[in-house]
Amino acid sequence: MAKILCVLYDDPVDGYPNSYPRDGLPSLNGYPGGQTLPSPKTIDFMPGRLLGSVSGELGLRKFLERQGHSLFVTADKDGPNSRFEKELPDADVVISQPFWPAYLTAERFAKAKKLRLAITAGIGSDHVDLQAAIERGVTVAEITYSNSISVSEHVVMMILSLVRNYLPSYGWVIRGGWNIADCASRSYDLEGMHVGTVAAGRIGTAVLRRLKPFEVKLHYTDRHRLPAAVEKELGVTFHPGVEEMVKVCDVVTINAPLHPETEHMFNDALIGKMKRGAYLVNTARGKICDRDAVVRALESGQLAGYAGDVWFPQPAPKDHPWRTMPHHGMTPHISGTSLSAQARYAAGVREILECWFENRPIRDEYLIVQGGALAGAGAHSYSAGDATKGAGEAALFQQ
Ligand code: NDP
Repeated sequence: MAKILCVLYDDPVDGYPNSYPRDGLPSLNGYPGGQTLPSPKTIDFMPGRLLGSVSGELGLRKFLERQGHSLFVTADKDGPNSRFEKELPDADVVISQPFWPAYLTAERFAKAKKLRLAITAGIGSDHVDLQAAIERGVTVAEITYSNSISVSEHVVMMILSLVRNYLPSYGWVIRGGWNIADCASRSYDLEGMHVGTVAAGRIGTAVLRRLKPFEVKLHYTDRHRLPAAVEKELGVTFHPGVEEMVKVCDVVTINAPLHPETEHMFNDALIGKMKRGAYLVNTARGKICDRDAVVRALESGQLAGYAGDVWFPQPAPKDHPWRTMPHHGMTPHISGTSLSAQARYAAGVREILECWFENRPIRDEYLIVQGGALAGAGAHSYSAGDATKGAGEAALFQQ
């Protein structure tokens, strides 16, 4: 029987909810492009409930315990004395979410002698040292597409809030003001601006589709080019390199995975090549941007605004400079964990576990590493190596 160790974020400060603002969720037929929704044999949770926090348990307990497996759920994930690190040595399966990542570093892999499967409840397995997973023959899988549309909606929201100066204007209302000039002196229309995405995968393409009706000029760069028909439909210009693209854009949105190729891509040099007063929105991964270069660019005016929901490490230490830098619209890592997204990725985790315990293959589109190599979706979008260095700093959040 297997031991499943699951790391989830804490319940709300007022306790696990008894009620929700809405009844149920809209039903979807599938993902854009034809990928089917997660398809476990059955589920033991109510879609629309909070599943991603400790008490939600991703709706897995009944399913696992019925089969004699044991489930340990904790939010205590950082440092050598954490519950996660104590339970790790005899865990067969680890489940973690990017929003509250249990960093599976090479050191932790060395302690996890029994570990065979690491599931990311969501998308983005950079909190796992993929090189170590490859070397130890551990399978890594994520729930591809489960929250891609959720993130693309968040990106559009953040672009509009930066360009139109929404958050500071809302702040004036809360403070009892009516300071129209203060609000308007940093507020523009998005119409006519050049907007570019770094990567046009599931999220990047969904962002382009959602922005098209705003009458902007669209751009993208990616390792693989979109089909000509899609480029034409969206009226989007391809750039072979990121430098060439950022030079012409007023707004840049980052939608690539974090892997050794993209780590610290947005450093002083690249930000310096952007138009003065450009906006940068990063909902991909914090480490794709150089933390201090972003702060410098906002202070100098090279960037007019920065927004996103991804930080490094997570949770961000209390004194992380992105909490206090000027002209930012940061949130905690939430874009991919709406109640809608949680229902999909909880079902996806269950689907993967059903396959694993019944010795059936996991869908190719969910695989990142298998059999000692990048596999499936991972082979397409990631590169081997480690992007978890420095994760230990997450323990500073507690201090
Ligand atoms: P996809 O795999 O569909 O798309 C990723 C795209 O990035 C692919 O088209 C890939 O190219 C491209 N890419 C990889 N490396 C580079 C590079 N060096 N330069 C340019 N493009 C590159 O993933 P999603 O769109 O679903 O998700 C993207 C990322 O967003 C995730 O990896 C995750 O980090 C983040 N994310 C954030 C969430 C949040 O809550 N904030 C939730 C979900 C995801 P190709 O395949 O052509 O090689």
